[in-house]
Amino acid sequence: MIFAEYIWLDATQPTQGLRSKTRMVRCDVETPGPRDFPDWSFDGSSTSQADGSNSDCALAPVCVVKDPIRGGDSYLVLCEVFNADGSPHATNMRASLRAVLNAGALEQDPWIGFEQEYTLMKAGRPLGFPTEGYPGPQGPYYCGIGADRAFGRDIAETHARYCQEAGLLYYGLNAEVMPGQWEFQIGYRGDDRDDPSLLNAADHLWIARYILHRIAEKAGLIASLENKPIKGDWNGAGMHTNFSTLQTRAEGGIEAIRKATERLSHRHDHHISVYGDGLADRLTGLHETCSISDFKVGNADRGASIRIPLGVELNGAGYFEDRRPGANADTYRVATTLAATVCEIDDTQTTHEKAA
Ligand code: ADP
Ligand code: MN
Ligand code: MN
Ligand code: MN
Repeated sequence: MIFAEYIWLDATQPTQGLRSKTRMVRCDVETPGPRDFPDWSFDGSSTSQADGSNSDCALAPVCVVKDPIRGGDSYLVLCEVFNADGSPHATNMRASLRAVLNAGALEQDPWIGFEQEYTLMKAGRPLGFPTEGYPGPQGPYYCGIGADRAFGRDIAETHARYCQEAGLLYYGLNAEVMPGQWEFQIGYRGDDRDDPSLLNAADHLWIARYILHRIAEKAGLIASLENKPIKGDWNGAGMHTNFSTLQTRAEGGIEAIRKATERLSHRHDHHISVYGDGLADRLTGLHETCSISDFKVGNADRGASIRIPLGVELNGAGYFEDRRPGANADTYRVATTLAATVCEIDDTQTTHEKAA
């Protein structure tokens, strides 16, 4: 028997949280997948996902990776949540992503890469902030080195190592603009043995968040995904999302990227509504953001909503970066909405029914 840590998303509003519990399972296969782990259930009345009178919610494994925290033959088992009648739970946004993919987006083979920024907090203050007052202004901290510039690197490094051991699509990391703030990326890495599809990358980012919270927990810290943890002249935390399709990656794909950004311009408000809680505090037009009320496309412009990276402009093909999603955004919602808008799939009604 081996340890399996079942992980799922709860119903916390406005930002869903992670929950997990452990089960011993028999596992005889070398590299187990979701089907090698039994379905399970949990007390939905304790996570606001069900009433006390009919409290069982079902857990269906969807993504399995090695558990670097326990080590050995242990696994992390990410699950979708279902109601007792077998329909996807209202909080199960992965089911909506499956529906949009199956409704036609998959034919365009979309790939995705998320840049997750986060802030390490101790006693309500970012690491590197004095107990009273403020540290020196921003400037030296981004990609900074040294005990006066980089705060919490051991956490970021342990996280990198664990994500690699788990086999996640871990791309890289850097210290961010505000003290105590870090970024890691998950998704497309330019290796054709990877699977940077939307479901896989979105799953991997949620698992990477789980691992990060566990490492921080052990150190007595909080890894905050708040969009604007410190008000004032301090950068917020985002989850820039990089997106491509067969057409944008093909020769001359810059034309498909232009069409995609045109479609995005017509659905700005809808995208903003699913890109995380408290976005207005972060998308101010300052601190490398575009104002929440504007939609702007720019080449290599970090004050734009959508940035076309320099290399993409030069190659005439590739991907674009959506800079709007906040650090607390749900990867399933972001991926669903990008796929729907760029691939012109209707996502206006709840797609849960079609998903099952
Ligand atoms: P930035 O310059 O914005 O800080 P990063 O170096 O942090 O960018 O991250 C680059 C991101 O772009 C990664 O998440 C990577 O997965 C993603 N990416 C690169 N190429 C593609 C592509 N063709 N399709 C989708 N995502 C891509
Ligand atoms: Mn980045
Ligand atoms: Mn960043
Ligand atoms: Mn970026």
